[in-house]
Amino acid sequence: MLTPRLTIVCPLCQQALDRAPKTWTCPNRHSFDVAREGYINLLPVQQKASKDPGDSAESLAARRAFLNAGHYQPLRSAVLAMLKPLRAETLLDIGCGEGWYTSAFPDIASDIIGLDIAKPAVRMAAKAYAPIACPEITWIVGSGAALPVEEASLDVITCLFTQLHVDEMHRALRVGGHVLVVTPAPDHLWSLRAGLFDDVQPHAPDKFIASFGERFDRVDRVDVRAELALTGDQLRALLAMTPYVWKAKPERRAALERRAALATNAAFSLLLFRKRLGDG
Ligand SMILES: [Zn+2]
Repeated sequence: MLTPRLTIVCPLCQQALDRAPKTWTCPNRHSFDVAREGYINLLPVQQKASKDPGDSAESLAARRAFLNAGHYQPLRSAVLAMLKPLRAETLLDIGCGEGWYTSAFPDIASDIIGLDIAKPAVRMAAKAYAPIACPEITWIVGSGAALPVEEASLDVITCLFTQLHVDEMHRALRVGGHVLVVTPAPDHLWSLRAGLFDDVQPHAPDKFIASFGERFDRVDRVDVRAELALTGDQLRALLAMTPYVWKAKPERRAALERRAALATNAAFSLLLFRKRLGDG
């Protein structure tokens, strides 16, 4: 079966890469080897991410266990429901992490890139959702600040809990293409955060809307909530994957980790933007 294939470009010279099975090369002879797990690393050395605590093996394993248990299935279902009517062919998921959300996107698009700056996460994604099992998905280590695709080539970009590079997304999207931003709603994991901090700040999803400016229309917004009744093990997995703990006092985290159970509420905002015609 031949699926349409996005042109992926060289991160050094922006020329199209020829995707041979073992090595991808550009006309200027820059070459990138396909890793054993089937992903490709297109991150130039100078863009290499600084070490992020979220990329540790412990954090990634916790994330996979928590997501595979289905706690955030209501969110993934809402994402699919919002994107399905767009009938996308090409989709790029920025900040794909270990791939749990991306792995559902073959339901809504035929040519998908899962992109993350963290190599350990992309390796884990490619291992679980290998090119043989998921031929629609290409797994790439790369930067959201310099997407390895041609101008105006994408129908949809998804940004789940990741930094937004609006200019770069605007470049890569076709006119009429969409960006989906998923971000924590004000009271996301409130009781968990109250365990970690004396002063819990509500998240502010609306602050992202202004950054899309005049070049996009906001076309949809959905808030999704999921009640979580967590066992001690599930709570520890959630703590290990959430960035909140990086700012918490270790003794507060330790006290939470000793709990046998916690009831809390996951809450997310889904914001959908469409690229306008004109204005370059
Ligand atoms: Zn090149």
